[in-house]
Amino acid sequence: MRIGIGYDSHRLAEGRKLILGGVEIPHERGLLGHSDGDALCHAITDALIGALGEGDIGKHFPDTDPQWRGISSLLLLKHIVGRVKERGFEIAWIDSVIIMERPKIGPHIDSMRNALSAAGLPPSLVSIKAKTNEGMGFAGRGEGVAVHAVCLLAPSPL
Ligand code: MG
Repeated sequence: MRIGIGYDSHRLAEGRKLILGGVEIPHERGLLGHSDGDALCHAITDALIGALGEGDIGKHFPDTDPQWRGISSLLLLKHIVGRVKERGFEIAWIDSVIIMERPKIGPHIDSMRNALSAAGLPPSLVSIKAKTNEGMGFAGRGEGVAVHAVCLLAPSPL
């Protein structure tokens, strides 16, 4: 068995779409980033890469590489989900927490869990939780989002 941990944060900025877990959430600001800024997909991707012991998301998808500019982070996640299978593992469970003051994320969680299926992660394998930061720190001041994710990989049956 392997466990992995992932963390990501992105700044909220004017003129950007707010995309989390592959879902566009209506809000006046969105997440700044080289890709679509989807911090949930990035944190889960990093947890999976960590469980494989193969570095981090920046090593696999360098932000200096134009081929990843503006790309849907679901595609990055899908790429790494495929790599997990290639390495002889299956994903047993993913848990995650999104820390964001506004907008309320709770009503969008089921949509996100469904959207992650496009990356090869069925809702039955993914938990997503959301909370505020009680007004403290960058997430609490509404400057951005922080996401934590953990995963458990099990050897694929032969
Ligand atoms: Mg990121």
